Amino acid sequence: MSEHHDGFSTRAVHSGSRPGRAQGATTTPIYASAGFAYDTAAELEDVFAGHKPGHIYSRISNPTVAAYEERLAAIERGRGAIATGSGMAALATIIMTLTRAGDRIVSNASLFGGTHRLFTALMSRYEVEVVYIDLDEPGALQGALNDRTRFVYLETIGNPKLDVPDITATARAVHEVGAPLVVDSTLTTPFLLDAHALEADLVVHSTTKFISGHGNSIGGALVDLGRFDWNTLTDPDMRNAVSTVGGELAFLYLARQLVVQSLGNLASPFEAYLQSQGIETLALRMERHCSNALALAQALEAHPTVEMVNYPGLPSSPWHRSASRQFLGGYGALFTLRLGSRERAFAFINALRIPKQLANLGDCKTLVIHPESTIYHDHPEEVRIAAGAYPDMVRVSTGIETENDLLEDFTQALSSVDSR
Ligand SMILES: *Cc1c(COP(=O)(O)O)cnc(C)c1O
Repeated sequence: MSEHHDGFSTRAVHSGSRPGRAQGATTTPIYASAGFAYDTAAELEDVFAGHKPGHIYSRISNPTVAAYEERLAAIERGRGAIATGSGMAALATIIMTLTRAGDRIVSNASLFGGTHRLFTALMSRYEVEVVYIDLDEPGALQGALNDRTRFVYLETIGNPKLDVPDITATARAVHEVGAPLVVDSTLTTPFLLDAHALEADLVVHSTTKFISGHGNSIGGALVDLGRFDWNTLTDPDMRNAVSTVGGELAFLYLARQLVVQSLGNLASPFEAYLQSQGIETLALRMERHCSNALALAQALEAHPTVEMVNYPGLPSSPWHRSASRQFLGGYGALFTLRLGSRERAFAFINALRIPKQLANLGDCKTLVIHPESTIYHDHPEEVRIAAGAYPDMVRVSTGIETENDLLEDFTQALSSVDSR
């Protein structure tokens, strides 16, 4: 008999669920408890020694958070996950688990602004070098890799440039030097991108965005996809972790026992509850995000007032083929448009009725922002331009509203730009 594997939505709804059976609850309760009590001294000794499963203290693990982590791992088809207090905290956990002073990280240059700040401003204080490359440039990756390279980093859709690097080709080149590939799949989520099948090793999410889905909390996650053999690394802490739990679980063990326990950046039970609920509707929301974004991007590209629309779902995008090859049935919620001048971009934003103007993305509500004057306001010009944050550019995170309402609103806002 062939083995049946549940599909994405079944896993999203049913995995990692620990309902409060005694009361008949259907969602995992919020275990708002700092510590966890055991009946005997011997039992607590066993839990501390790792001989008996159990929670000790919510800075290290918590039942609500653990159920959420199980769900995150299930939708990514990973070995396990750690849920953190933010997307930045998840990335910081990976950096601190894999690098020491003198080591190198190689990253695609097209990055979320906060990630650029962490890599550049913070990591230089700890003598971890970050080398930026353009993954679209042939040979750039090979030129940057050396024997101190601890991981390579890319965003599945760079924000706000909206480039889509080739994950499998990158993974294979990185594996040549014995290092893992880490991908930030915030903009794609596992619904649009199967990072495991594309041969990545670790996934980072800002769960603040689509996974939570409702703009109601900050959170992050890292997922070990179970492809990388940690037994091949020579770092002494990793060697110890391998001898304690084996090469398969060593990364997750070291990340939780050394880094998360020391930094105190685990997700709180309340945020884990909200975001775990979000996962249940992720598939439906992503379908609508993608269909609305495509409809808007097509309409705006055809509109005479708009100079340019950048969306991986449009054949005019330089990354359309790469996205079509790697994505599963949609191109995401984000697109950008250029209107010719900063003044016209501002006029357009001010004339929109439905979208909120704020610095977030991945909400059910459509959000717009002018990146150059906000997210990138304190970045040097060459960083802004490399990121694609031009003075006349507006970024749209398409929500799940009724398509026709969005089309009508964006069109009327464009006529007010024209009348200026
Ligand atoms: C928002 C975001 C982050 C950072 O996540 P936070 O939850 O805000 O800490 C990282 N990467 C990408 C692509 C993001 O959009």
